[in-house]
Amino acid sequence: MDAQGLIELENQYGAKNYKPLDVVLKRGEGIWVWDVGGNKYMDCLSAYSAVNQGHCHPVIHDAMVQQAKKLTLTSRAFRNDQLGHFYKEICELTNSHMVLPMNSGAEAVETVIKAVRKWGYQDKGIPENKAEIIVCTNNFHGRTIAIIGFSSEDSYKEGFGPFAPGFKIIPFGDAAALDAAITPNTAGFLVEPIQGEAGVIIPAEGYLKDVRRICIEKNVALIFDEIQTGLGRTGKLLAEAHEGVEADLTLVGKALSGGFYPISAVLSNKEVLGVFMPGEHGSTFGGNPLGCAVARAAVRVLIQEGMVENAEKMGNYFLSELQKVKSPHIEEVRGKGLMIGVELKPEAEGARPFCEALMQKGLLCKETHENVIRFAPPLVITKDDIDWALERIVPVLMG
Ligand SMILES: *Cc1c(COP(=O)(O)O)cnc(C)c1O
Repeated sequence: MDAQGLIELENQYGAKNYKPLDVVLKRGEGIWVWDVGGNKYMDCLSAYSAVNQGHCHPVIHDAMVQQAKKLTLTSRAFRNDQLGHFYKEICELTNSHMVLPMNSGAEAVETVIKAVRKWGYQDKGIPENKAEIIVCTNNFHGRTIAIIGFSSEDSYKEGFGPFAPGFKIIPFGDAAALDAAITPNTAGFLVEPIQGEAGVIIPAEGYLKDVRRICIEKNVALIFDEIQTGLGRTGKLLAEAHEGVEADLTLVGKALSGGFYPISAVLSNKEVLGVFMPGEHGSTFGGNPLGCAVARAAVRVLIQEGMVENAEKMGNYFLSELQKVKSPHIEEVRGKGLMIGVELKPEAEGARPFCEALMQKGLLCKETHENVIRFAPPLVITKDDIDWALERIVPVLMG
């Protein structure tokens, strides 16, 4: 079936909760994807940073196929021979003490909310049902009812109430606001080290250090949502490393599977996760042997193939070249590693037409927050690839 037929099928039967670019992909390899008509594109979105390792990485693919032949799902009613290895490897790599595996990113967020609330009651003595979690404006932590309830974005939440209480929103990047918002009932502070969906918003240098210090002083669990920034995207394994701090709890997802499979995890440095007792939390698929084998391979190639260092080097190059572009449409170019946002002026009337023009030239990216173009290619990109991309991006930005 041709692209038009496939698009019509989607439109006829599918819910309309996305507005994708009309490119129908059927194959991917590294940074490249091909559509059903055989056209080749450079993927500069990486499935919102889930394919940091590049499309269909052969080592991850092999691990998945080998494991799929042996055992895929046991449920956590029984143990499996992959889980312990996955735990040890991810904990050693991220300097964590304990891990809880889930599937989607949103589930990891829900899990950490439960853990931090219970820790607040048990360890801090917060009165029953009074625990508060502080979050930031323009946050993105997923799409469940609890999570959208503490979003500051109307389109995420309008028409979906009522929402769960117990969350307080403060401005992002403002450590003094955190200090002021904490009460004796505050259990945790949940924040993205760089806000991805909000348009690659990077807080001022020192913010992560400041919130770390405040959370220690006030005995509040610091939670970094690194589902997008983590696993090499910003040029460090975790974005928190840019300021040399460690959260009490770190959420990873997306690239934890290299795009093969939904796998997420809550990593805990403070044994907040220790509050869970048997029966208090779970997931049928969380921690299954197939997912564990895939995650182990995905993390292994990220490290062994130097993708984190490459993200730093290539990100610096890509960013500095984009910053040289003198276009009347550009408000600001910012980024860290290979997480780059080009913010357009309001007069440019939205990033979408720019993304459509780039698609025509063989480069796929997606607007975020109306007027930001995000460039986040797989971390295996080379300098030649970036030069190829710039040859297409620069004229579109100038146009
Ligand atoms: C994508 C994302 C999530 C949600 O992950 P899902 O797998 O889509 O549920 C949560 N937090 C951040 C920062 C994300 O980028």
